[in-house]
Order: sequence, then C-alpha cells, then structure tokens
Amino acid sequence: NDQAPYLSVNNIEVIYDHVILVLKGVSLEVPKGKIVALLGANGAGKSTTLKSISNLLGAERGDVTKGNIEFRGARIESLTPNELVKRGVIQVMEGRHCFGHLTIEENLLTGAYTRRISRAELKESLDKVYHYFPRLKERRASQAGYTSGGEQQMCAIGRALMAKPEMILLDEPSMGLAPQIVEEIFEIVKDLNVKEQVSFLLAEQNTMVALRYSDFGYIMENGRIVMEGEANYLANNEDVKEFYLGLS
Ligand code: ATP
Repeated sequence: NDQAPYLSVNNIEVIYDHVILVLKGVSLEVPKGKIVALLGANGAGKSTTLKSISNLLGAERGDVTKGNIEFRGARIESLTPNELVKRGVIQVMEGRHCFGHLTIEENLLTGAYTRRISRAELKESLDKVYHYFPRLKERRASQAGYTSGGEQQMCAIGRALMAKPEMILLDEPSMGLAPQIVEEIFEIVKDLNVKEQVSFLLAEQNTMVALRYSDFGYIMENGRIVMEGEANYLANNEDVKEFYLGLS
C-alpha cells in the first residue's frame, strides 16, 4: 500500500536529564519517496526529533518517555542506531561530522561499515557517490579537515549514501554555508530523492530554501508542531512568511 505511512512519529515526548521536557507530543509522517521539512527556530526541537528517530538521544541523556515511532510498519524506537542503519534509516548530524584526519574517500568508505559487501560492490557504491557529488571525486585524496564547509557537508551526506539508505534524516544541511553552496546541496538532495528514491526528513532553519525543495513541511515551536502543510501552501502562507522568512 503506497499510501501507508512510511515513517511515522506518533505523539512522542522527550525528556532530557529526567527533568527537561523538550518534545511535548510530536507527531509527523514521511511518506515513501518524499522530502519532508521540519522547520522552526533555534531550540524549537528539530534536532531532538531527528535524534529520537535515529535513537541518538541516549548519548545526551535524552529519553523518549511517551509515544512511538514506526518505520515500514514496524516499531523502531528501541532499535540501536546500528540496527536502524541496517534497516535503512540513517542520520546526518548537524555540524557535518566527517573525520578530519581521514581523506574524503576514507570517510566515504567508513559509511559502508554496516554492510557485508564485496570490493566490487564497494567500488560501485563509491562511484555512485562520486556521480552525485563530482566535487567529492575531485577531492577524494584530500584530508577532510582541510576541505571547505560545503565539501564536508557533501562528505557527510555521501557517507550516509554508502550505507544504502532508504531514509536520511538530515540535520541543518545549510548551516554555515554560502547560499550558492546551499542550493548546490539541495539540488543533489532532490536528485537523490528522484533518482535513488531516498526519502528525506530534513531539519532546517532556512525555511524558504527548505520549502522550495520539499514536498511537505512541519513547523515546530517550543517542542510542538504548530503548523503543517504542502510545501507550496506553507511557502505562500502569510503567517509563515511573516514569522519565518527572516529567521535564518
Ligand atoms: P537547533 O537548530 O539549535 O539544533 P532545534 O530546533 O534542533 O535547534 P533542539 O536542539 O532539539 O532544537 O533543542 C530543543 C531544546 O532542547 C532546546 O531548548 C535545547 O536547549 C534543549 N536541549 C537540547 N539538547 C539538550 C541536552 N542534551 N540536554 C538538555 N537540554 C537539551
């Protein structure tokens, strides 16, 4: 059933350090093959939402205390990040997270660690990443720490691709990047979505850019979803324009 939700987050609450209630009942859906934007100001709870799906909250002493999360019909909220990667759900963290002392290519190879694959398959995956990110191919032998911010963001997405993802949770891909590079990265995200059928849930403060590349959007405020709709609808909505245009 193509209409069944693919990823669904159902009324989750998240508490940090046993006391700080940060998500106050968040529900959202990502249909298969879509790009969904999670929007809102700094501190609204976007990163926390992504981390609760990828189960990366533990390291920050965060807990999902209510609600549940489903992916392709199965509950996933108690799977480890590794198990999630094997099922095709992978997060690209905010701030890029490439290994600075490794080359671009070595970074990409680390992305395939959950797969048991032959050299030929590994080569095929690498070639696919280089096909979508020609800049990474040019910089394959450079130490990641010495590449530009845009190239490091590309490296982080490329590394996620090496795991053959079904669904990428992309946290603030535009952070700290020049507008032209942001466009370049979103174009590639759209391309991956269309040609590789990767679904995306992307957290962004850059509301208008994100909506241009998304199918659907949710707006968060203070740990809650306060508005949702088709990307076109949100981009043309007067309240959204007034409150969120100047945010990034
Ligand atoms: P940003 O763009 O800054 O990532 P965000 O919308 O993603 O913003 P979150 O990072 O999810 O927001 O933060 C939501 C709230 O949770 C904020 O008030 C933040 O201070 C708080 N918070 C985040 N991480 C922790 C933590 N490890 N311990 C305690 N509180 C936290």
